[in-house]
Amino acid sequence: MKLPRMKLFVLGFAVVAAATTLPAQQPTAPVINESIRTLVSRLDLEKYKATVKGLTQFGDRRQGTKRNRDAADWIEAQLKSYGCANVERITYEYKTPPPRTGGNAAAGQKPQAPIIASGEMRMGPGGSRYRGITRRTGVNTDPMKQPDEKLRALNSEPAVDGPRQDVVCTKVGSTHPEEMYIVGAHFDGHGWGEAANDDGSGTALVMELARVFSMPDVVSDRTIRFALWNNEETGTNGARAYIEQRQKLQGKEDPPGSGRYPEPKWLGMIQHDMMMWDHGMPRADGTWNPEQRPEADVNIEFQSTAKRADEAMKLAFLFREANEKYATDYPAAVGPHMTNTDSGPFMDIVPAISLRENERGMHTGAGWNPTWHQPIDVFATFSDKDFRLGLNAAQTTLAGVATLTNARLK
Ligand SMILES: [Zn+2]
Repeated sequence: MKLPRMKLFVLGFAVVAAATTLPAQQPTAPVINESIRTLVSRLDLEKYKATVKGLTQFGDRRQGTKRNRDAADWIEAQLKSYGCANVERITYEYKTPPPRTGGNAAAGQKPQAPIIASGEMRMGPGGSRYRGITRRTGVNTDPMKQPDEKLRALNSEPAVDGPRQDVVCTKVGSTHPEEMYIVGAHFDGHGWGEAANDDGSGTALVMELARVFSMPDVVSDRTIRFALWNNEETGTNGARAYIEQRQKLQGKEDPPGSGRYPEPKWLGMIQHDMMMWDHGMPRADGTWNPEQRPEADVNIEFQSTAKRADEAMKLAFLFREANEKYATDYPAAVGPHMTNTDSGPFMDIVPAISLRENERGMHTGAGWNPTWHQPIDVFATFSDKDFRLGLNAAQTTLAGVATLTNARLK
């Protein structure tokens, strides 16, 4: 084929220009699903903050107390007001195990000097490795560390063994009601604060997703269950109770021929725990950066030792991509050391991931969050930059779950 001389010249010039002045690969815009973009836009910073604020009216929501039961009632009322279908309680018994001997339960009660690494290998939870400066962590059990007298009084009732409840609601899939993704967070807390970040921030995220997915003009092929677990802080007992009661019921139509699946087959579990604070490593003098660091990100973790690790890794990267396409401010990173939250009990059964403000092992475990289980985990501690990280995690999960379930506008 003969090209006119002029065209050859232009082509040659373009190739030379590309080779000398442009990067090897041109950036390409990702393919955006307009329906998902619209759903994501229905999340809103003020609404997210209002839901966190609503949860903090029940103090630290410690399991086995009236303030915990009142929080469950409030969550249920909110879910119903959003039109989320089939609000259910999962009821189980909780008995405090005998105290472990040789433990270090009081760690973190006294301020400790930071530990500065000097090259030795220090391992954290979940297979992680600590780097740099770490601080001791622990749960505050001293009421007098809470300066707000009203909050101190609200948090004063101790936990009593007995019945406990998780709260769940469900968006039923239009073409595959028999299969579902579980989107979870734990609503119990402790430490004599308001459990605003741990885990009001994750609970509010799940509730906000329940609100958006339950809107009358939204349809999804597959089912989505929004789960607010209790007793995470005592060892993920609420999530374990759910698995114990429901695992065997998966995928069964009941009654037969009805098209109804009380417990759809689990396709994946996505947990949210501590979503707002990413201020960086503690400083050498024991203080911390008071501002959200500009490099803050959402940490998506799977557990490389899980039976379903390979699928969980793929799920984690799907959520990372969802973040890249739809989250407005903060990016997401993937790590292999998911640990210490309600996705743990699921990880050998289904692909399971967690979303957090930091990696649970190498960051949270190393004392990067000074509010963790402390009296300062109250709504007023957090700035809009902190709340916005939680909102970006919500955008990430909403877009990821919408992709997985083909959720869209009718
Ligand atoms: Zn938590």
